Amino acid sequence: MTVDAFRALLAQTNLYVYERSVDEAENTVVATVRKDLVKYLAVAGEKSDLFTGEQEGELKLCPLTNENAKALQTLFPYTKPKSHRGHQFTMGLGDRLGLATAGHIRALAGHDIYPVFAQQSIRELNLTHRTFTDVISAATFNVFQEGYKKGFGADGDHLKTKEEIKYALESGCTMVTLDCSEHIDQKAATYPIEKINEMYAALPENVRKHYEETYLNKELPIVGHMDEDELRRVVVVFWDGIAHAIDCFRYIDEIKTVEVDFELSIDETLTITTPTEHFVIGNELHNVGITPISCAPHFSGSFEKGIEYAGNLNDFARDFEVHQKIADFFGYKLSLHSGSDKFAVFSTVARVTKGHVHVKTAGTSWLEAMRVVSEVNPDLYRKAHKFSIEHRPEAERYYHVSTKVADIPNIDLQNDAYLAEYMNMPASRQTVHIAYGMLLEQPWFREEFFRTMAEHEEEYYAALVRHIGKHVRYLTAELSI
Ligand code: ZN
Repeated sequence: MTVDAFRALLAQTNLYVYERSVDEAENTVVATVRKDLVKYLAVAGEKSDLFTGEQEGELKLCPLTNENAKALQTLFPYTKPKSHRGHQFTMGLGDRLGLATAGHIRALAGHDIYPVFAQQSIRELNLTHRTFTDVISAATFNVFQEGYKKGFGADGDHLKTKEEIKYALESGCTMVTLDCSEHIDQKAATYPIEKINEMYAALPENVRKHYEETYLNKELPIVGHMDEDELRRVVVVFWDGIAHAIDCFRYIDEIKTVEVDFELSIDETLTITTPTEHFVIGNELHNVGITPISCAPHFSGSFEKGIEYAGNLNDFARDFEVHQKIADFFGYKLSLHSGSDKFAVFSTVARVTKGHVHVKTAGTSWLEAMRVVSEVNPDLYRKAHKFSIEHRPEAERYYHVSTKVADIPNIDLQNDAYLAEYMNMPASRQTVHIAYGMLLEQPWFREEFFRTMAEHEEEYYAALVRHIGKHVRYLTAELSI
């Protein structure tokens, strides 16, 4: 089967063809097509049997299932996620809907940024009722649809246990973001020193001995001298988390079948990560021969979902510079979580890291979908908006947000033309942002939402090019990448 013969076959159907997708391998041609708003792979040629679908003459019409994603990955290896090792600027672009990646691809066009298109946490998987395989398959189909061949990663985000790591890697994830927060005694960061001393004394003797020998009475690079009180606090808070990180890293090494990128995240803690804490963590990993690809400290200021950075920018810049020095010292990148919409810090992030950084975004692409809904299906937006306000206390169980519902202008007093404004206001952005899981569970929302998105996918891609494109522009302006 040649591409020309394949196109001739397609021309006899009433299928809409995604032109950039058409590709050939092993005498087999495949394209993404659409029929009545539903997408399929159209397949013809020698390897058609790899795919499952309805044979219609010489063409086989195959639904976008996980099995057919696997077949696509076999035939076209660029549709399969792989490690981002060696790439300077990497960006996590979570797509909770399975619809956004094509827009993300267009937003990155012309930039040397390696994307991690598949990126979900277990929390997000649960809230969207998806599996890691579903998430990766969606990225695979989007990548194929756009004819994007430069590679992408798949991040099992905020994984906490070996079971979760195993699940992610078996599903094809190429990156593990380990979240040690359950092994970190977060409250101890602010305990009085008497209590720290008591807790420290109760730790195993070999642990205490190891830390004292490694850190006391030494002039440490970057962070200098550590006194006993400071060391005891760091050890009480972090020793178990560090042990867990080492244990999980070794486990990954043991079970992995492909190259896996290991990120250590300590961003979801109660207190900001001090340089000393960061140094000790990096050093403990280094001393046992572990170099993560990236590390996400809890930076100063507040990085809440879906809204601009809040905090003192001078403090952030100073803090970020020291963390960068520590990351350079141990040979990994800094990783910025909840990077969506933090435009005010991007210049600093770019300048300090020189573009050697990982930045994660996710929820903001859901908000852009809701912006499209507010413009093309105002009735659905109104219902979803009210639902989000009503259910915000439940949503706050999963996400910490500080904006107030009282600051959202009453939607009943607004005409349809105004609705998109809600996607520009912090309070309504956060309210709709954290409701995604509950909304997608409502049959009245789910069905009409996905139909609306299918009818208006080009508008959605354009919205993502604008919004994610703004992130990329601010992050790369002075880097020429
Ligand atoms: Zn995080």
